[in-house]
Amino acid sequence: MDKATWYYARGRAAQAASDVEDLVQSGVRSVLFNSPDEASAAPFLEAAGGQPLELHIGISLKELHERALGCPPPPMVIPDRDAFVARFGDRCLSTLVCWSGLTQGAALAAWLVRHCREAGYAKGVSLDVLRYPNTVFAEDFPCACESCQARRRPWLGHGCLEAADRTDPSVMYKELETKGAVIGGVARDLAQALHAAGLEFSLAARAVYAGRDHEHAAAPMWGYGPALYEGQDWAAWCRDGLLDTVHFMNYTPRLERLERLTRQHRDLLRGAPVRHHEGLGVTCSAGRLSPADLDDQIRLCADLGAAGVTLFPWHGVSAEHRAVLARW
Ligand SMILES: [Zn+2]
Repeated sequence: MDKATWYYARGRAAQAASDVEDLVQSGVRSVLFNSPDEASAAPFLEAAGGQPLELHIGISLKELHERALGCPPPPMVIPDRDAFVARFGDRCLSTLVCWSGLTQGAALAAWLVRHCREAGYAKGVSLDVLRYPNTVFAEDFPCACESCQARRRPWLGHGCLEAADRTDPSVMYKELETKGAVIGGVARDLAQALHAAGLEFSLAARAVYAGRDHEHAAAPMWGYGPALYEGQDWAAWCRDGLLDTVHFMNYTPRLERLERLTRQHRDLLRGAPVRHHEGLGVTCSAGRLSPADLDDQIRLCADLGAAGVTLFPWHGVSAEHRAVLARW
């Protein structure tokens, strides 16, 4: 199995050299490397020099927007904030952004190519959260920002989605078409610029990622459905050759759910020119994998034909987990 990991450099300067040694000894080939700034990245990069590791710059769409354009993306606007907070709490409220006004995909791509050239070490870029906010937040609380309203008015006649609009398939079709066009446009801009520069493009693809495990059981909380709802049509992007590798974010300790997801991914990727990696949540909000669980999950992915696995996150990987990895 091809092995990759998400690696977050923030706060790990002291362990950077031993992390590199552990990665190499565990047989990890690709590191999706996220660092908030150059100072945090330096100790790891120094230790990784000359080692058989491929480094990919890991960055979220939100971080990319902030660094490339010098400003945070506009927030999602939720008219009934009290009802939202009653259902989800206020913890995530400030993190929800809306992409309906995003038209600068080419500028984001140009910045990313420059950033890779300046960094010098990157084999490619791995995009994270290349999508609208989670379906669970958006389905009953559709965004009412100026950009969303302006996009709706020509075909809806008004700017905010009413309760009746949200059960009308034709309205939802137009709503999802907008999200797909915005995010798909950015994905195409990034793919074109990165490939022209000889860089790989990979994606942390939406699979199971919302926080509360009991909500993951039924649609629309898992699989391709919520990815589409959030504007992330990874299956089309893979078929069209935009992505070199797709890393699915299956953060579940439950083997039967991983199996259901991996089968869906395999079926939708059949014939697509892409490396298929299943992401495994070693430590995540849904729980923690024991070393035996990790072994079972890797075996399942291998049996179902995935090219590799991608661990989330490296700082959740123990010596016992590494011993499992080294055997695959
Ligand atoms: Zn909006």
